Amino acid sequence: MATARELIAGCGLPLLEARMLLERALGVGRAWLIAHDDEALPGDQVTVFLDWARRRRDGEPMAYLLGEREFMGHDFQVSPAVLIPRPDTELLVETALEHLRGIAAPRVLDLGTGSGAIAVSIALARPDAAVEATDLSADALAVAAANARRLGAAVAFLPGDWYEALNGAAPAPTYDAIVSNPPYIAAADPHLSQGDLRHEPPLALTDRADGLAALRQIVRGARAWLKPGGALWMEHGWDQAAQVRDLLDAAGFVRVESRRDLAGIERISGGYL
Ligand code: GLN
Repeated sequence: MATARELIAGCGLPLLEARMLLERALGVGRAWLIAHDDEALPGDQVTVFLDWARRRRDGEPMAYLLGEREFMGHDFQVSPAVLIPRPDTELLVETALEHLRGIAAPRVLDLGTGSGAIAVSIALARPDAAVEATDLSADALAVAAANARRLGAAVAFLPGDWYEALNGAAPAPTYDAIVSNPPYIAAADPHLSQGDLRHEPPLALTDRADGLAALRQIVRGARAWLKPGGALWMEHGWDQAAQVRDLLDAAGFVRVESRRDLAGIERISGGYL
């Protein structure tokens, strides 16, 4: 007979993580867990908790064990088919929304949407927007579409590699904003074999090259799909801002700038046509 107190103290995880996993295994909230911490718990649920605790000790990300992660105030379902939404990426959404503020019924494209966190958050903040989102991974698009449905966001999902996903759309759509959080970790970056990244889809993390391959493709292709005055904003690595600004300058973008995340790192760069 195990109690919440014993399981939490004995599982070898930080208190908050142990509580979150036990709450999920039992289907209860924090208040219940604290109020009933001396009660013998049902064996089946204890077994589920002990399995999750072992997997967590072995390094599986909390978001995959819980099956969800909060982003822009919404609960997104996640699986190992998609990158776990990061708080840093909220800056990309907020910046896109700022640009769209003066535009009625804007048309927005999210390239490589993964869980759909960016596209769905924009669609929920701007119900008048027409939002399209692409991904090369059919498994990721299924997660994204399920998130859009569950959260009540109108997003159209298109399978394919970057702008190729738009081929066949006639007449060719043009966008007020294109946003992307592409894979930007260089193939040789040792972080790929550390922490949560070991469990996330490599397709979402690395271009298997210098880290700028996807960003280059996105910048080069943008002109064909943006309206005059349209914006392109991309997330990138902590040391890539100057290079991404150079790419934007070379592609003829104006008012090119980078913005810092909460950690003070230049995390996104963008410009306007
Ligand atoms: N921000 C992620 C990380 O460094 C990477 C996400 C990405 O490549 N787009 O953990």
